[in-house]
Amino acid sequence: MRILEDVPALRAARRQLQGKVGVVPTMGALHAGHLSLVEAARRENDHVLVTIFVNPLQFGANEDFDRYPRDLPADLAMLEQAGVDAVFTPTRTNMYPNGFSTGVSVSGVTRGLEGEHRPGHFDGVVTVVAKLFNLTQPTTAYFGQKDAQQVVVIKQMARDLNFPLTIAVCPTTREASGLAMSSRNRYLSADERDKAATIYAGLQRAAAAYDQGERQTDVLTEAAIHAFAAEFEVEYISINDPVTLVPISGADDQPLLLSTAVRLGRTRLIDNCLLPYRLNNRDSLTRILGGIASNSAD
Ligand code: AMP
Repeated sequence: MRILEDVPALRAARRQLQGKVGVVPTMGALHAGHLSLVEAARRENDHVLVTIFVNPLQFGANEDFDRYPRDLPADLAMLEQAGVDAVFTPTRTNMYPNGFSTGVSVSGVTRGLEGEHRPGHFDGVVTVVAKLFNLTQPTTAYFGQKDAQQVVVIKQMARDLNFPLTIAVCPTTREASGLAMSSRNRYLSADERDKAATIYAGLQRAAAAYDQGERQTDVLTEAAIHAFAAEFEVEYISINDPVTLVPISGADDQPLLLSTAVRLGRTRLIDNCLLPYRLNNRDSLTRILGGIASNSAD
């Protein structure tokens, strides 16, 4: 496995890759969720390139950039084991040299949900992802359902800026308890981990109500909240159109995105699912979240 520490090394290595290249952008502190993206990329491409960069632009002033978990040796061991061809590990100055002054910004789909509660977050995400796409030139780039709005925003950016690639979406990998895997779960105590698992219980409760025919979105969100640990401070719980992210109040039979963010102590946790629940698989997620996934035929 090649470790590419700066832009010239990445450019030179990328030029040598023939055939399909699957790219998996990450912020490191890798877990089985990241590895599920790597495995999908491995299956579907000739080469797999992973990027590890904790992007300062996407953290708010009061967020956890400084304490965000970093463990490069463990990450590299996991990726080597997973059969990755190359890992790009730029420094902050590689990505944002002195004088860097460009930002990419998506409107519309960034307005609600995470965008509302983390002002500026998606500008940072989209700017770094646009740079990473230009540098790595993916055939297909892999993202997780865990960050559903991020998928919608990145698809919008890739379409609008004509990146010739496909965005693939992999379902959320969960602990046995149902807790969505996340690098930030390292912040949780054992007791908090148990409580955090009730987010999934809530999503399941809403999915069961949906399957029984409930379509009123406030009844569905109430069903979810009912299962949540009493200690949660719920930042939002919302039902949106999974293509446009427009909030939905009374639904017919179109697919829905149920998503939530809660605070538990100092930790902020997010999770989501598509309704009906059977849509939470690689192909449906790729097709439905943000709509069309491929610009390759442009
Ligand atoms: P991060 O390192 O948190 O920026 O995540 C890198 C990529 O992995 C993003 O596309 C995430 O959506 C995805 N990801 C994070 N957690 C999970 C998970 N539990 N299951 C599937 N994908 C995930």
